[in-house]
Amino acid sequence: MTLDAHQEKLGFQAEVKQLLDIVIHSLYSNKEIFLRELISNSSDAIDKLRFESISDPALYESASDLAIKVSFDKAARTVTVSDNGIGMSRDEVVTNLGTIAKSGTREFLSHLTGDQKKDSHLIGQFGVGFYSAFIVADKVSVKSRRAGLGVEHGVAWESMGDGEFTVLNVEKLHRGTEVTLHLKEGEDEFLDAWRLRSIITKYSDHINTPIMMLKLSEDEKATDEWETVNRATALWALPKKSVTEEQYIEFYKHIAHDFENPLAWTHHKIEGGAVEYTALLFMPQHAPFDLWQRDTKHGLKLYVQRVFVMDQAEQFLPHYLRFVRGVLDTTALPLNVSREILQDHHTIPKLRSALVRHVLDLLDRVAKDEPEKYTQFWQEFGNVLKEGPAEDFANRARIANLLRFSSTNPEAKEQSVTLMDYVKRMKPNQKKIYYMTAENIEAAKSGPHLEVFQKNEIEVLLLTDRIDEWVVSHLPEFESHALQSVAKGDLALDEITGESKDSQKDEKQDDKQLPAFEALLKKIQGILDGKVKEVRLSHRLTSSPVCLVREQNALGPQMERLLKAAGQPVEEAKPIMELNPDHAIIQKLQNETDEATLQEWTQILYEQALLAEGSALPDPAAFVKRMNKLWMEIFS
Ligand code: ADP
Repeated sequence: MTLDAHQEKLGFQAEVKQLLDIVIHSLYSNKEIFLRELISNSSDAIDKLRFESISDPALYESASDLAIKVSFDKAARTVTVSDNGIGMSRDEVVTNLGTIAKSGTREFLSHLTGDQKKDSHLIGQFGVGFYSAFIVADKVSVKSRRAGLGVEHGVAWESMGDGEFTVLNVEKLHRGTEVTLHLKEGEDEFLDAWRLRSIITKYSDHINTPIMMLKLSEDEKATDEWETVNRATALWALPKKSVTEEQYIEFYKHIAHDFENPLAWTHHKIEGGAVEYTALLFMPQHAPFDLWQRDTKHGLKLYVQRVFVMDQAEQFLPHYLRFVRGVLDTTALPLNVSREILQDHHTIPKLRSALVRHVLDLLDRVAKDEPEKYTQFWQEFGNVLKEGPAEDFANRARIANLLRFSSTNPEAKEQSVTLMDYVKRMKPNQKKIYYMTAENIEAAKSGPHLEVFQKNEIEVLLLTDRIDEWVVSHLPEFESHALQSVAKGDLALDEITGESKDSQKDEKQDDKQLPAFEALLKKIQGILDGKVKEVRLSHRLTSSPVCLVREQNALGPQMERLLKAAGQPVEEAKPIMELNPDHAIIQKLQNETDEATLQEWTQILYEQALLAEGSALPDPAAFVKRMNKLWMEIFS
């Protein structure tokens, strides 16, 4: 049989070229990680072979002892990592080693700054895998053959990391992949058995496949006998006590393709129950670059009885916990489980609720024992967790306890107040938890709606994130206290301030002032016809002349903008305009006889109220003209 070599020279995808450049420069200070990355790929390839051979035992060919071998050749100045895993066909080699399949890669790369330190951090989150070989090598040669294909279907791939690679067909006796690094000048430290062994134990001890090197003789010469240099057991299956912190950390880096340490983790082995499983779950320090990408799968690495079954198994955790990385190993699923079977397998709900509990327990524990860590978690993933109350009804109260808010309490740091803190500080007769939504903290604090709360020293939560209004719409109450927007409906403040019905400067005062203002309210209502639903006197304001409020069940302005931005049909609820009868401007208008002037003032007050709640003006230029006209009148 003759082999048609069919040599081709191909270019890397543009993103790969860019990534290679950055990898080589920004990761140089941590160059030994190339070995971890290549071993990690080999380990994945062996896991895949184990899985595929369940339905097709012939894939094992004649070699069922699965192993990764690391060797070096001093004379040729090469280091080689080989495995007898699943291997790659020619097409797979071209695609896998010449392109990056992750969606959002281009956008990710555009965030890189050229600052090596910052970039190495970002690249770490992205995961560089195979390309890290080029940190220490100026030429990388790969030989691979897919398990199940004939000996003549081997492929040789080679590149100098300069933008191009070659592929040709070769014979390869053994299935699997062999990656050979031709070291750059000055990288001879890696041509040393002890150096390589120490890197393997440092980073790859937990890999559940033997990593082998040639045994050394007494005088430290390589023999021709292979020996295993790592622990080679499934880390998650070990008793918790026998796993060190470093091992957990390295294991996390391997499964999460993250260069940073995890923030926290939780390890559970549940035996003897209806559903047996082991779960090792991690919280990363930083969000992966594609956390918000809709088409990215997030999920756990699934093992069934120690056999790897699939990556990114999404069924075991709800979407709002998609930042969790880790491993689930269970005896409760069949080995031949597919994504389809997984969809509606009867054990999924049980596993899922158990895992959710483990994660929420972990978050509780961190929040309680390591508040600074929790703050870091909240900054990074708070917005993901906020999806929880809407998605997970059963755990709503637990999730509510994990939320953090800003507040008008002068002692409180931004994004640090819990609902429980708030409840503990509530006024004796206060029944509701008050919140204010705005674009940012400054806008929230100076909003007219807060005036009456400031005056009465009632704490208000300040919600400044775009999705906050949506979040609270799924949290009608906490510890039997309703959540109440300060810009909506009835505030029921008289119960708190305890002022008697006669004396209070409160809504009941409307009764007294109302007759005097009735005519003005009517006129203004007429002028703003179609824009506001109603014009009434306010019990919210102390120093502003007007504000806009919504009915109790109406969408707030923040939510309205959010829905519009998402292209959803929004039923626009007209706001209610409230006037402060004690304000000089309102009193001036009360006595204004000229209709045209009243019209001008009303328009301006309405537009100011829109601005104050963070809404856009329908016609900003007209507003500016009106303001300037007023100025001119004052100056003339
Ligand atoms: P990642 O491992 O993050 O997917 P890499 O750039 O390290 O990214 O590898 C790209 C792809 O190349 C892998 O997803 C895998 O399909 C393939 N690959 C790399 N190394 C091996 C190997 N030793 N055996 C089989 N396939 C491999």
